[in-house]
Amino acid sequence: MIYFQSLTKTELVELLKPLSRIKARPEQTEEELDLKATKKARYRAQQIFHWVYQRFVTDWDQMSDLSKDLRGWLKENVEVFRLSERQSRQALDGTHKFLWDLSDSKTIESVIIPAALQEKEEDFATEDPESPTYRGRPVQETVTSPKWTRLTACISSQVGCAMACKFCLTGIQGLDRHLQVHEIVTQVHELRRIAPITNIVFMGMGEPLHNFENVVKACEILLDQDGLNFSKRKITISTSGLVPAIEELGKRVDVSLAISLNGTTDEQRSAIMPVNKKWNIEALLGACRRYPLGSHRRITFEYVMLKDLNDSIEDAARLTKLIRGIPSKINLIPFNEHSGSDFKRPSDETVRQFQKYLMDRKITATVRISRGQDILAACGQLRSIFGTARGTERHRDWGGVNQPSTLNTVS
Ligand code: SAH
Ligand code: SF4
Repeated sequence: MIYFQSLTKTELVELLKPLSRIKARPEQTEEELDLKATKKARYRAQQIFHWVYQRFVTDWDQMSDLSKDLRGWLKENVEVFRLSERQSRQALDGTHKFLWDLSDSKTIESVIIPAALQEKEEDFATEDPESPTYRGRPVQETVTSPKWTRLTACISSQVGCAMACKFCLTGIQGLDRHLQVHEIVTQVHELRRIAPITNIVFMGMGEPLHNFENVVKACEILLDQDGLNFSKRKITISTSGLVPAIEELGKRVDVSLAISLNGTTDEQRSAIMPVNKKWNIEALLGACRRYPLGSHRRITFEYVMLKDLNDSIEDAARLTKLIRGIPSKINLIPFNEHSGSDFKRPSDETVRQFQKYLMDRKITATVRISRGQDILAACGQLRSIFGTARGTERHRDWGGVNQPSTLNTVS
């Protein structure tokens, strides 16, 4: 059996071609027959993409405009993959987090982050219309509320992560395995059943560029106009800085890029992100400078702010110099504290000063308000609550933050 969500449309066309050949008339050449079969297969592939991705039909028998033969063939050879929901939680600010069971009993998580653009102006939590943030004021809204102008799906690319960033709960848990293409695509597909997702960010569990081929293929499928039909500007891949993979990504698929910079000197960055020992800041920023950005597009630099570690005004000054000349914006993320690490979040005042320093120098700098704090929406945290991550005993608690106020199971 092949999982439908692992196929690009071109691959599906190739599979359908042998079934789409018509009876040859004597005057027809092999070339003509092949061309006709390709055309028919392409039409059928489009129909199937529409049924599954746009009409959410999973039963081949219900696809009424497909021939009986084709439905029979699909039933025998192709399966529409579903992720089974183990748990979901809705935070007061609308953030909705899902924990999925995979077929090998491993688990991954995805989050829907709603935002209302008309609420973007606020003195401290400056909202960038491009960034998946919301100002964090508690509201009891679900993701289906009409007030949201953007619904970002934050998805995982691996079970765990090998990059071992010291501040990250997923990093502390280590890498279990890469996600397959259908497991990546289906996260978005499942979330789309629940809410009209507008943006995708690869900022859940895992380092997307470590699972390069599967992530690139998943992006191709997500971008397909007959499928989920996301535009290239609405998909962002976030990486800790795998330099050769960044170079390759630019050649292979046109999506937005985010870099987890998180430090302004090699010493500082290597201490929290081991990947920096292999590709240092200079190498990383070199790859960013060479990254083929389309017109009006910018690289996002994410900067997790850790108290007394990378949050000084000297850091802000170095950061300003480092990114000079790169079309970019900075997303400051005050550290989301969890019981798996001793790092602390800087005070709001420190974050404000840091942001002001950058903005005074005409750098776009937004502060990402931690979303869904009451449901542990940070990297790797939901999974750890349910005790499904490796070495989870010590994380099997509420991570030192409030108990969730709502517990929803969406069917
Ligand atoms: N592996 C990729 C994408 C997933 S992590 C990457 O590192 O870019 C997504 C973002 O969450 C990264 O910018 C990372 O630095 C940040 N992050 C991880 N743990 C965090 C925490 N506890 N608090 C705040 N941000 C965190
Ligand atoms: Fe992996 Fe990203 Fe977490 Fe680092 S921050 S451990 S790269 S998921």
